[in-house]
Amino acid sequence: MALASHTALARRRFEITGIVQGVGFRPFVGALAARHDLAGHVRNTGAGVEVEVEGRGDLLDAFAAALRDEAPAAARVERLDEEVVPPRGDAGFRIAPSLLDGAAAAIGPDLGTCGDCLRELFDPADRRFRYPFLTCTACGPRFTIVRALPYDRERTTLAGFPLCPACRSEYEDPSDRRFHAEAIACPACGPRLSLELGRAVAVLRDGGILAVKGLGGWHLACLADDEAAVARLRARKARDAKPLAVMTAAPDLVVELDAPERELLEAPARPIVLARRRSGAPVAEGVAPGSPWLGVVLPYTPLHHLLAHDTGRPLVMTSGNRSDEPIATGDAEARARLGSIADAFLGHDRPIHRRCEDSVMRGSFPVRRSRGLAPAALGLPVGAARPLVAAGGQLKSTFCVAAGRRAWMSPHLGDLDAPAARRAFREDLELYLGMLGVRPQVIAHDLHPGYAATAWALEQDAELVPVQHHHAHAAACLAEHGRTGPALALVFDGTGLGTDGTLWGGELLRCDLASFERVAHLEPVPLPGGEAAVREPWRVAAAYLERAGRPVPWERWTLVRQALAVNAPASSGMGRLFDAVAAVLGVREQVGYEGQAAIELEHLAAGVAAEAYPCRVEDGILRGGDLVARAHDDHAAGGAREEVAAAFHEGVAAAAARACALAAEPRTVVLSGGTFQNLRLLGSVRARLTAMGFEVLSHRRVPPGDGGLSFGQAAVAAGRMAPCA
Ligand code: ZN
Ligand code: ZN
Ligand code: FE
Repeated sequence: MALASHTALARRRFEITGIVQGVGFRPFVGALAARHDLAGHVRNTGAGVEVEVEGRGDLLDAFAAALRDEAPAAARVERLDEEVVPPRGDAGFRIAPSLLDGAAAAIGPDLGTCGDCLRELFDPADRRFRYPFLTCTACGPRFTIVRALPYDRERTTLAGFPLCPACRSEYEDPSDRRFHAEAIACPACGPRLSLELGRAVAVLRDGGILAVKGLGGWHLACLADDEAAVARLRARKARDAKPLAVMTAAPDLVVELDAPERELLEAPARPIVLARRRSGAPVAEGVAPGSPWLGVVLPYTPLHHLLAHDTGRPLVMTSGNRSDEPIATGDAEARARLGSIADAFLGHDRPIHRRCEDSVMRGSFPVRRSRGLAPAALGLPVGAARPLVAAGGQLKSTFCVAAGRRAWMSPHLGDLDAPAARRAFREDLELYLGMLGVRPQVIAHDLHPGYAATAWALEQDAELVPVQHHHAHAAACLAEHGRTGPALALVFDGTGLGTDGTLWGGELLRCDLASFERVAHLEPVPLPGGEAAVREPWRVAAAYLERAGRPVPWERWTLVRQALAVNAPASSGMGRLFDAVAAVLGVREQVGYEGQAAIELEHLAAGVAAEAYPCRVEDGILRGGDLVARAHDDHAAGGAREEVAAAFHEGVAAAAARACALAAEPRTVVLSGGTFQNLRLLGSVRARLTAMGFEVLSHRRVPPGDGGLSFGQAAVAAGRMAPCA
């Protein structure tokens, strides 16, 4: 009996969901069927991949095991359903035409050029030698070129490039690594550059600024070791302080990499990784003024590899935009928006369908989750009972679409203060909903009426779920760990609107996905002049010093002081406390970009051992003023700024841990909010809480800052819709 069922002809059907399109999954299944001598078919569906195979029962078992165990590296199988169906007597195995249906599906992220393609790129004997658009099933554009699903060439921006006979035979050969690679091309049939590569390289070598069309948008490039070229780029781009990323094929010449940083840098996602600058690195001071850190990225398209190779120097590679606008994607758009910045344009005729900026990683978390990571689905610990959109925040904007247990966060859109970013928000959301086949019934949004994303939400014809800013941060961290709470949450950031109408941002919450209570918070200070105090940290420092009975060293305070009576919203933002101490130490009195003063204060404290400054925690209030007063006194007494900065960091961490100890329950603490991008603070808080016996969860997959807010809003909305919540 057992033997008979083992050798008798049988047929099975597999439904596979996850990231299984555009990652070589169908060729993999084809090769597997051939190995096990099975007939049948594989095809892409709107939901994923469907496989039907028939043959001997024992071979079907082996096939099913291999399907689970040997999936291509770039694939992520979320679910594999298997059922027995009646045999049909198929002869041979084939890749069937895609099945169109409206079910939500996910396309894979764009992947950096793989090792096999790189060898071909620099092999004079290869027919794709120095061809800037070579790809295979393991690498190349996906998300940024897909117009619609299922993922087939005719629904990508390569539809206008019919395959030549040589490419077609690779595409149709199950043993070839380009078997059904939808983006393949060659010099005979594929896209072409708009400018001769030699001329582009000459522009760079002469110190010029080159606009380069990348995967998800245009970049601006110049020699990273040419101080004058970097200064020109900054001046023309109107970016005077923010660090610029460096692209190099030899990262060890410019930064010190530890093992986890190297792994992140070399991952197929190819993010920008913030790492310690190597002393004597051939990188102009103007690339990251005053910073011990450099953002580095490996070349991730064949065109980048050619540029890096032919210039032989590290290149600045920064988004093709002005200040905080979204990246330019279209060719005409790039020429219009970047015409006054770039000396030459290195474009091509493969259109970009979706914008996607570079991802940025620091430590083990994303600062910006974008190219190579979006649009991979994130799991929700509680399924969304109805499909929803979460609108996100104002700065570092993203939105998030969720259906069931899956949530798709958009790539980074920029700051919604800019009209171009608000347009991108609407356009990209339409693209996302179309791609996923989702019609939202619920919209989650921040409480702040001044956020463009909130204004958009209020215009929609859907059920609205308002979510408090810091609850969303906490929920993002809980949800990415698959937790629903309850937990304690330390949420430290610059600002966010509280339920009492004041500005929060130094919060200890007790929460689950659906609700929260405010357990403790930083003592609020008035922000003299409101927004102006965010740009000018000295104003906050003055307010703290005056309250502490210390002298205010700035003469202009006599003028600004009047704002206390008319325009001085109270804020408990932790970012403002860091700003104040930075100003007291003379690190920075005015900022050029969000978080600059706090980042520089962290640099100052780096690696310096110090005893924590005392900070009272009483009746749910963290007396941050104690820390400012002590920093002032030690600085005035001639204490080293590095030591004051370090003792301040430890003081914040100790007070935060003390607040958790007083709250006592539950025994899990999540750490979120943009201030936790500070590695010194993150490490110290984690160590102190762990020593007290708390379980500590921090971000790994979603940014701690406002870039992760939309995912947290989606988790809260799902939590509130859950039947038992
Ligand atoms: Zn490849
Ligand atoms: Zn070809
Ligand atoms: Fe925030």
